[in-house]
Amino acid sequence: MKDLRKKLIKKARRIVIKVGSAVVAAPPVEGRDIFERLGAEIKDLKGSGREAAIVSSGAIALGIRRLGLKERPATIPERQAAAAVGQGQLMALYDSAFSKVGEKAAQVLLTHDDLGSRKRFLNARNTLTALFRLGIVPVINENDTVAVEEIKFGDNDALSALTTNLVEADLLLILSDIDGLYDKDPKAHKDAQKLAIVEDVDELKIDAITDSTNSLGTGGIKSKCEAARRAAHFGTATVIANGNSPGVISRILSGEPEGTLFLPKEDRLTSKKHWIAFSARPSGRVFVDDGAKEALLTKGKSLLPSGIKDVDGTFEAGEVVHCVDLKGMEFARGVANYSSSELGRIKGLKTAELVKVLGYKVYDEVIHRDNLVVL
Ligand code: GLU
Repeated sequence: MKDLRKKLIKKARRIVIKVGSAVVAAPPVEGRDIFERLGAEIKDLKGSGREAAIVSSGAIALGIRRLGLKERPATIPERQAAAAVGQGQLMALYDSAFSKVGEKAAQVLLTHDDLGSRKRFLNARNTLTALFRLGIVPVINENDTVAVEEIKFGDNDALSALTTNLVEADLLLILSDIDGLYDKDPKAHKDAQKLAIVEDVDELKIDAITDSTNSLGTGGIKSKCEAARRAAHFGTATVIANGNSPGVISRILSGEPEGTLFLPKEDRLTSKKHWIAFSARPSGRVFVDDGAKEALLTKGKSLLPSGIKDVDGTFEAGEVVHCVDLKGMEFARGVANYSSSELGRIKGLKTAELVKVLGYKVYDEVIHRDNLVVL
C-alpha cells in the first residue's frame, strides 16, 4: 500500500488544493499564517515541476470578521455582502504571500451555471490552461456575491471535485481542520482510528462510520467523501488532510502517510462524461421503458426514440437530461439530440418513422452512447 501511495503521488503533476474556511480563518501556526505557509509549499511544489490550482473558501468568514459581525448573517444578501468584502481581502492575502516567494496568484470566481454549461465550462478551462502556461496559480472560489441557492455548487468541497475535471488534475488535496477520515466520529469516540487509505470510495459506508447525531462534523466529512468519490470517477486520487499542520502538502507529495488517501477508479470517466454526470445541470427527464433501460445498462447501447415512453420538462437539443425508468428512478444521464417538444412527437417511434413525423432527422439516437453516463 505504501508503494502504491508513493507511485500514485509521484506521477501527480497537476494538483487541486482545496483550502477550507476552518484553515483560512485559523490563527497562525508556529507564527506563520496559512497564506505564508501555502506560499512556501506552492513554491516547493512548483519547484518539483508540478502545477497547482487552489480552491479557497474564506470570503464569508473574512468578510464577517472585517465587518465586525458577531455571527454569520442570517439572510442571503447579507452573506453575499460579507463575501464581497471578504473576497477582496482573501485575494489580497494570497497575492501578498505569493509575491513574497516570487509567485503570482489569479482570482477565478465561478458559479455552478458557469460549469453547468458545456460552453462556459470549456471557456473556463481555456482560461485556467492559459494561467498554468503563464506559471500563475489560480485561486478559485464560488462567486458568492451572486450565487443563490439554485445556482450554488453546494459547497467548496463539491467545487473542488468539479475543478479536478475542469483543470484535468491528477490529485486533489482537501485541507481542513481534521486529520482525515476516521472509522467512527473522532469527536464522539476516543478510540476512533484514522483510515490511511480508502480503496473503493463507492464501497464506503459513510453513514455507518460517521456519527449522525453530530450534524456539524458529519456534514463536513460527508461532503469531502462525496468530493473524493467524484474525483475518483475522473481517475483522480484524493487526500483529505489537516491544513493547519505546517508542511502538510510537501509531506503528502513525498508520499508520506499523511491524512486519508482515496484511490482513483480504474474505469474512469472521460472528461465529457464526468461533466455530464457531475457538472451539468439536467433540464428535463426522459422516461425509458424496461427493454431500453436494460439495453442501456447491460448492452452499452444508445437510447432510441422507440425506448422512450414520456418526456418531462423543457429542454433544447444539446442539453443534458435525466434518464429515468417508468417508476421515475434515475439510472443514467446524457446529452439529448432532440428537444423536449421534438421528443414529445417522436417518443415510441421507430427510427425510420422520424422523417415522416418531424420532416427531418438529425440523428437516429435520442442520446448517443458516447454522451451517456450510467449512474
Ligand atoms: N465560498 C464560501 C466562502 O468563500 C465557502 C463555501 C464553503 O466553504 O463550502 O466563504
